[in-house]
Amino acid sequence: MDFPMRIAFLSEHASPVALLGGEDAGGQNVYIDEVSRNLALRGYAIDIFTRRDSLMAPPVLDWTPGVRVINLTAGPPEFRAKDTLWPYMSAFRDAFLNFMQHDEVHYDLIHGNFWMSGWVATELRQHLSIPVVQIFHAMGKTKQRHQGSMDSSPQQRLEVETGIINSVDRLIAQCPGEMTELIDDYGADPHKIEMIPSAVNTEIFRPVAHAEARRFVGLEPDDFVIVYVGRMLPRKDVRNVVHAFAHLRRLCAEMLPGALPKIKLLLVGGETPEPDPIATPEIGVLQHLAADLGITEHVRFVGKRQQDTLRYYYSAGDVAVTTPWYEPFGLTPLEGMACGRPVIGSAVGGITYTLADGVTGFLVPPRDPQALAMRFYQLLQEPELRVQMGQAARQRVEHHFTWPIVARHTGDLYETVLAEHHLAQTRWHSGQARPFVSIQLDEKTKFETEA
Ligand code: UDP
Repeated sequence: MDFPMRIAFLSEHASPVALLGGEDAGGQNVYIDEVSRNLALRGYAIDIFTRRDSLMAPPVLDWTPGVRVINLTAGPPEFRAKDTLWPYMSAFRDAFLNFMQHDEVHYDLIHGNFWMSGWVATELRQHLSIPVVQIFHAMGKTKQRHQGSMDSSPQQRLEVETGIINSVDRLIAQCPGEMTELIDDYGADPHKIEMIPSAVNTEIFRPVAHAEARRFVGLEPDDFVIVYVGRMLPRKDVRNVVHAFAHLRRLCAEMLPGALPKIKLLLVGGETPEPDPIATPEIGVLQHLAADLGITEHVRFVGKRQQDTLRYYYSAGDVAVTTPWYEPFGLTPLEGMACGRPVIGSAVGGITYTLADGVTGFLVPPRDPQALAMRFYQLLQEPELRVQMGQAARQRVEHHFTWPIVARHTGDLYETVLAEHHLAQTRWHSGQARPFVSIQLDEKTKFETEA
């Protein structure tokens, strides 16, 4: 009987089980969930290791056929912001080793996610001689460049990232921009990098008829609606969207006197299902901004929503928008496109790769509300262009950006890495010593079988 290849996904802060839309639960959680499911459909057995962030979390959860979620105890079993988790990573590593020993399970390959799990993966690679494929999801240098003193990452981050880049077997870059960052900012060997863009679930994210979507969301059928979906963080620059929306209203008043269209801005995301400025301070900032600009009644805050209803929100929009300062990849533009809507995105990071400018929507400079307002105005004036772009957007997603495509490429990469690894091992066995570094386990972090 053939045993399936067993892969350990390490993802210290992003679990597929988490509710999405809050500060630390977004694209990485979706990636882990979709890639593991689709790899399981291709015959791999996947264990996702994440940090236990609640006493209620079971040690092992059968998530979907072929995919388990393992909650490792490393630090307090409660939510902690991801930028405070670094001190628990040696405990995370030890808990992983204890789990392997306890369950007598062997992994063929480790897939590290984010820099902290990447460090754990490199430790395990040395200790167990298991090959590692690493995806960062976001790079520390880029964050530092854009956020400056607002960057709350631990100071070791850049050094640790460089160490990971030098020691893993392969790096996955999600777009050409990330590949450039790895090479130019960290001196990564280009041959080590495989570009595998992320994707969207085209069954969950699909077009919904306009009228039905408007009914579901509770908006008038004839309004012109602009929709933003995503985490509510300063770097997502939803403030830019609010400013642009105010410009658009002024532009319409100037250009279309007497026939002022009704336009609305729909903002989805936040820590709670109801928009709460205390739980989500950025919502408070945006509410004040809307009040200062005199547009409060035209801006609707929705709160966070889960993936299974988001198609109604995207489809209720005439256009979807996202204008972050920077974006490692950006799943939300793809989601808007999959729902058959034109998307306007800032010309940064992965968005410049996924969005075809002038075909599936428009790229605009970040931090430029006037430029964004002009594109809103154009799409408001040209309903046929909206339809054309929406159709082109859906097609582009179907052809290039689905999770089964990602799983196929990722599986191929695993096979290549494993073949190289076996070859190297054969060489070691025929004479050369195998590098082996023993790790001192922390006795306090034994894997717990009971919650
Ligand atoms: N998201 C969600 N509910 C919300 C807000 C966001 O499910 O209320 C999801 C969104 O659909 C997308 C992810 O969170 O799948 C955000 O991913 P993206 O890559 O756009 O940004 P990131 O969170 O990685 O910065």
